[in-house]
Amino acid sequence: MPRAGDGPGERSLRLAPRNSPFYTPPVTTPHPLPLPERALEIYRRLIACSGKPSPNRQHADPLAELVQTILSQNTSDLNSERAFASLMARFESFERVAAAPVEAIADAIRLGGLARVKAPRIKQVLEHIQAERGCIDLEFLRAMDTAAARDFLTSLPGVGPKTAACVLLFALGKPAIPVDTHVHRVSQRLGLIGPRVPAEQAEALLEQLVPPETYYAFHMSLIRHGRQLCKAPRPRCDRCPLDDLCPKVGLRTECSGLRTER
Ligand code: SF4
Repeated sequence: MPRAGDGPGERSLRLAPRNSPFYTPPVTTPHPLPLPERALEIYRRLIACSGKPSPNRQHADPLAELVQTILSQNTSDLNSERAFASLMARFESFERVAAAPVEAIADAIRLGGLARVKAPRIKQVLEHIQAERGCIDLEFLRAMDTAAARDFLTSLPGVGPKTAACVLLFALGKPAIPVDTHVHRVSQRLGLIGPRVPAEQAEALLEQLVPPETYYAFHMSLIRHGRQLCKAPRPRCDRCPLDDLCPKVGLRTECSGLRTER
């Protein structure tokens, strides 16, 4: 199993695509700070530079969080919020959603995109909870420890580690770090996880690096950093407060700046 910082805790000075005729093995020097201390310093610096994120929204209903997270896949926050509002306006309860035809659910969530994929998934999840628990409710998860609650959530059809972590963190206030595309990319560039660690394995590795009480702010800060500076196509390393802490894994340096490895 890959370990946190497996490989990228080193400063990569020159990286070209491995299949390029110009590929040169990276020249590396160890970063002076050990990985957990560097992770904590990254967290402190993000908070110092951009402030603490707004408080955890703490949905009253973990089932609402689950459905909303399914709706948020591959769309903007605004669209998924509109789709969720439309779903609730049309059916008024999750029991009615579960009993509705897939086509009617798809029609209600069309604003959020991928309605033909998300509608059957939502219906299957609700039906599965009904079959397992005898009612459509996830409040029982509050009394469980994090591992047991995560196991139940990931046993639901189509619910992966990121969706489960969102429910744990945002609705139940349990320690988890959801790894979305921003958290994954930024963590790899910073060398907090190895360059080939998939998002599904990244959560457990990141959770080893910082204290549980920081998970929410750490998650939110990495997302904000990924949206504002450490962008996918062209990171703004010239303006980044983490520059001296970052091995820039997957990027190659040039006189004019940095480019993503292709
Ligand atoms: S913007 Fe550059 S220096 Fe900052 S975290 Fe991303 S890759 Fe590292």
